[in-house]
Amino acid sequence: MSRTASRTTQPAEAVAPEVLARYEPVIGLEMHVQLKTASKIFCACSTRFGNAPNSNTCPVCLGLPGALPVFNKRALELAIRAALALHCTVHQRSRFARKNYFYPDLPKGYQISMYEMPLATGGWLEVESGAGRKRIGITRLHLEDDAAKNMHEGFPDSAEKTYIDYNRGGVPLIEIVSEPDLRSPEDAHAYLTALRQVLLYTGVSDCNMEEGSLRCDANVSVRPRGAQKFGTKAEVKNLNSFRYLQRALEYEIERQVKHIESGGQVTQETRLYNVAAGRTEPMRSKEFAHDYRYFPEPDLLPVHAGAALCAEIAAALPELPDARRQRYVANFGITPYAAAVLTDSRELGDYFEAVMAAAAVGSFPAKTAANWIQTELLRWLKDAGQEITESPVAPAALAELLAMVERGEVTAASGKAIFERMFATGKPAKQIAGDENRTQISDSAAVETACREVIEKNPGQAAKFRAGNEGVFKFFVGQVMRATRGQANPQAVNDILRRMLSAA
Ligand code: ADP
Ligand code: ZN
Ligand code: MG
Repeated sequence: MSRTASRTTQPAEAVAPEVLARYEPVIGLEMHVQLKTASKIFCACSTRFGNAPNSNTCPVCLGLPGALPVFNKRALELAIRAALALHCTVHQRSRFARKNYFYPDLPKGYQISMYEMPLATGGWLEVESGAGRKRIGITRLHLEDDAAKNMHEGFPDSAEKTYIDYNRGGVPLIEIVSEPDLRSPEDAHAYLTALRQVLLYTGVSDCNMEEGSLRCDANVSVRPRGAQKFGTKAEVKNLNSFRYLQRALEYEIERQVKHIESGGQVTQETRLYNVAAGRTEPMRSKEFAHDYRYFPEPDLLPVHAGAALCAEIAAALPELPDARRQRYVANFGITPYAAAVLTDSRELGDYFEAVMAAAAVGSFPAKTAANWIQTELLRWLKDAGQEITESPVAPAALAELLAMVERGEVTAASGKAIFERMFATGKPAKQIAGDENRTQISDSAAVETACREVIEKNPGQAAKFRAGNEGVFKFFVGQVMRATRGQANPQAVNDILRRMLSAA
């Protein structure tokens, strides 16, 4: 999953329509999100990804006896920020609990999570899916520490040994549990997209799926259309990209329906998505037969999320993507589609707004800026593999170019060529237009000369036009534009060509 790909990863296939005609899928997602803190949740170790294995460790996150956890306040603030952005109720008092299980990636023998008293509950997120908007309930949001990373591959003795990198152990996570409100893989995709966008806008997480900052478990069941009662669910783990989530859900829905229709019953179980095989498979029963024996964490005080702290965090929340989209449509008069593209990331929206802020009143319409950003800037950035924040063309520089095009100083075609040079050199539009002699030729004498030359060079075509072949007119326009390197005013070219061709 690339940093900006959410918008483009649309489902390739879908569940067979005849299956969906008979059964309705029900899906709830459990997201694990790494918080963007510099240090771990209960110790001062760095959270930096990519450091030498086991270098970001200390007695606390290695679970050595006697080491005591100290709660990172920054993690609490980010978690509250996420909870408020998702319209949750943040509880003044919450509490960490030990979730006990034995696995090599968990050196303490337990995970510190929240159980009976989560940080926040009862939120929602609106998503755009299929024909309309849906409100997806958020059951709860709580804090926990991450496990270490088992490395099964990449070592000479990987066939016999598993290595463990404890750098990730103790990194702060929030778990965000949705209500079973999603009704299709497309809904799940839309929810994940919207959630990721909110988390990025609020700076809660970098949401980098490749580095494991955003991970997803999906709970899936099916029920006959019209039934009230939910079916038995299976939980699918290991969904670390938008595409895998989509595919795993599609597979799992069809599997459950087939199973039911052949007389079976869905078993409540945990399954793993096998990427290579493209299917979900049951985990060996021993691996999920957990009795977590939750109990309150004795080494940490209850968490206090006071009203003052919450109010402060709420006041500092940025404008969220939905509000921004509505504002763009209402205030700038751009289409909902353009608004969706431009708000894809907070940085892109900021860029668009900076272009508009740099524009003198009425120097060009917002639609023009929206179009140029979508068609030119995003394309060049994509080709260069650059992010919007790295754009060689600053917002004010784009505004200057757009104003020149709008005033007719350069044609739209020249404008695009100038933009390409601006992107390559970082020079301002005026300079490039001057250097390359790109200012628009509206001077009719110059355009007339160009037209006359083209007509003289193409007597055969001219005769065809005069004999009534209107189709060749485009040929002449093209030739003149080429001769003037796209700088002739197209309207003038049209008028003059028509006059000259009909006159002779
Ligand atoms: P568990 O007790 O197995 O942890 P929960 O009720 O806590 O189950 O729900 C865990 C997740 O499963 C939530 O995201 C919830 O929305 C989802 N979920 C619950 N019941 C169903 C169901 N019948 N079908 C699909 N998802 C479900
Ligand atoms: Zn540590
Ligand atoms: Mg549960």
